[in-house]
Amino acid sequence: MMKANLKKIMAAALIAAMAFLMAACGGDDQDGEEGGNVPTYTAVTEATFPPFDTVDEDGNVIGFDMDLMNAIAEDQGFKVTYTDMEFDSLIPAVQAGNADMITAGMNAEDEARREKVDFSDTYYDSGLVVVVKEDNETITGIDDLTADMKVASQIGTTGADSVNGLFNDGKIKEAVILNGFDTCMLQLINGDVSAVIIDKPVAQAYINKQADKVKMVGETLNAESYGFAVQKGNTELLDKINAGLKNMKENGTYDKLVEKWFN
Ligand code: GLN
Repeated sequence: MMKANLKKIMAAALIAAMAFLMAACGGDDQDGEEGGNVPTYTAVTEATFPPFDTVDEDGNVIGFDMDLMNAIAEDQGFKVTYTDMEFDSLIPAVQAGNADMITAGMNAEDEARREKVDFSDTYYDSGLVVVVKEDNETITGIDDLTADMKVASQIGTTGADSVNGLFNDGKIKEAVILNGFDTCMLQLINGDVSAVIIDKPVAQAYINKQADKVKMVGETLNAESYGFAVQKGNTELLDKINAGLKNMKENGTYDKLVEKWFN
């Protein structure tokens, strides 16, 4: 009788201790643990870059990058939440440990960036193009930009590097560096700037929606490849991303997502 009671008390104590431990783990966001022991990572993006990164009518961050990362996450047993911020804040956020990763159509082949964060294997080949108003007959490529023109791009991007370079070389009147690509396009349509330098797939998506407003001119200016970024040395997360990305390419999910977002 005594023995049975003691056992019961001990079992109850054990259950209480376990419940306490589980609650402690569940509440510990710093470790990225959530119910069921699935780690949740925080991703940052800049959501004026459709079809890679945009927002739906309810303000949720959506796009090719999110679908691809969510598929990788499911494959590798983690979850991701997405936060929209300005493009030039993305790397500092990950460097400071305020976010676990960048999912932002970010060119991984940029030396300055590679010194600050670690990039995954690349997942999309891209390049910059010059975009002008549909009725513009004078600018047929980057060499037609002249010292009386203003040219826009987005802060912190390779497009902004290009526009700043043109300005520093005295080839254009002003480098108009704006927070969002949506604003760059509006300034172009309004006639505030003569051209925008932007990533080709994003320009193409814009033209697909507003064919009568803007057009791409000239050759593609460079070659870039997008990668996901993590804090320097975070091999644990980087290995999961690379393994999941490889699996998504092999099992057809990657191609399905390209089909969904790029046609
Ligand atoms: N591909 C460009 C870059 O890496 C722009 C990316 C973006 O605006 N999301 O700088």
